[in-house]
Amino acid sequence: MNTPRIAIVGAGISGICLGVALRQAGFTDFVLFEKAHDYGGTWRDNSYPGLVCDVPSRYYQFTFARNPAWTRLYSAGPEIKDYLVRVAHEHRLPARTRFGTEVTGAEFEGTGWRVSTSDGKTERFDFLMCATGFLHHPNRPDIAGLDEFGGTLMHSSRWRHDVELTGKRVGVIGTGSTGTQLVSALAGAVPEVVLFQRTPQWILPTVNRAYTPVAKTLYRLAPALGVLPYSGNRAAFAVFSQGLVHPGRVRRLIQWVVERNLRSVKDPELRRKLTPDYQAMCKRLVVSDRFYQAVQRPDVTLETDGIDHVEKRGVVTVSGRLHELDILVLATGFDSQAFMRPMAITGAGGRTLDRAWAQGPRAFEGVMMPDFPNLFMLVGPHSPFANHPLTAVAEAQSARIVGWLRRWRAGEFATVAPTHAATDRYNARMRAAAPSTVWTTGCTSWYLGKDGLPALWPWTPGRYEKLIRSAPDPVDYDLGQRAESRTEPVESPSRPVDSAASPPEP
Ligand code: NAP
Repeated sequence: MNTPRIAIVGAGISGICLGVALRQAGFTDFVLFEKAHDYGGTWRDNSYPGLVCDVPSRYYQFTFARNPAWTRLYSAGPEIKDYLVRVAHEHRLPARTRFGTEVTGAEFEGTGWRVSTSDGKTERFDFLMCATGFLHHPNRPDIAGLDEFGGTLMHSSRWRHDVELTGKRVGVIGTGSTGTQLVSALAGAVPEVVLFQRTPQWILPTVNRAYTPVAKTLYRLAPALGVLPYSGNRAAFAVFSQGLVHPGRVRRLIQWVVERNLRSVKDPELRRKLTPDYQAMCKRLVVSDRFYQAVQRPDVTLETDGIDHVEKRGVVTVSGRLHELDILVLATGFDSQAFMRPMAITGAGGRTLDRAWAQGPRAFEGVMMPDFPNLFMLVGPHSPFANHPLTAVAEAQSARIVGWLRRWRAGEFATVAPTHAATDRYNARMRAAAPSTVWTTGCTSWYLGKDGLPALWPWTPGRYEKLIRSAPDPVDYDLGQRAESRTEPVESPSRPVDSAASPPEP
């Protein structure tokens, strides 16, 4: 039986998920390339104070590795990273992982990929799987004088644990999920925090309770109990996602909840400064049990004047006020358009990824691209879903990929790529659906691509899972044959997205 050689790039959530799926399906000839020295991806890179996942852990985990031992409803970053490392080890991924090896380029040749790595080697694989994530490359803001700062300057995802916080005045630029978590953690832990806010955020209140010893014992003795909160959260997120992609009751309800939450800010002037002028969820909704308490503290300053420049002593606003600081943190997000770049990828006919994505990242069903045969992406363009956990997306996409590998192993094809026509149709349908999503209601965010349209799947996660777990429609693909084999016809499945008559989600 043929065994494909597979390169997976990235050992974060999606790379681990795919590695496990391959092993479970009997595809053991793979190499998991990871430029860093540990598993975890974003949960390895991000280690700032206060890092908590705002999706409940009993949902933000793999269904094949339910962890009975979560300590809180929303786990802190290190606990999630430990979980991912443990899953990788339990599924014997270390034997197939090359740490400290960056994939610098990949070129399609014949029926497979020639992969180049930072150690100067090249290797041939039948399939290339990009599991590189999409919030990975720090966004360094274009602020004059940043390099003049005399204290410690760091991006939130490159936290300097060697820098002592005690007694330090800390400035945080950015009010996304990261900036708000950071400020919530630093408030009271350092003598002074200044939050530089360009745009206020709506905050969804929550309570992050610790599991009681009884609950922990129950989950340990009966791990199957984990199915219940997983299903419960899945149902809750399904309702929430209705608000993301359709105007209506859920959207109005969430708006009401966040406005009510804002009323907990007592000072009217501070409340005014914290009031967004756009709808809740237009930017990624921030979930917090403590941000408003933190900004109301006397040792926390919310600075809403724009930043003019940074100088040796600190940050100077457009009104000329100098905030003297010892540490300045850039919680300014990531380049959400990079995906697997800067890897230099060249597909069939010499087509480069940069050229294919000149108008912005696009793919077919989030996992494949025309002209790039036998290349799969995990959580590729338009497959992220706002606050929905990537673990679930990665599992569904891994199942699709394994399906293609089985067909390759059966000799049905040597190369597979979606057609241009199918990819164009797919992207046109997403563009048409964009206006009913909340992300186009009048705010800026990393959700929007260069064209101003959401870079997210514009329907519910359930609809995507149904699509990606269904069998691929043969008319959407170009299959290349080995000289000695031929393709078996494949039955056309029902396809929620591809059907022009597909009704909108209720
Ligand atoms: P982000 O949501 O992109 O927020 C970046 C912040 O920096 C925004 O407030 C932005 O202001 C501000 N900013 C950027 N450039 C600036 C400039 N030149 N001057 C002043 N302010 C500037 O980034 P993030 O908070 O790191 O979050 C990124 C994503 O990571 C999240 O959306 C989420 O998907 C993920 N995340 C998840 C969790 C979790 O708990 N699951 C936690 C952290 C992060 P504007 O709004 O005005 O652009």
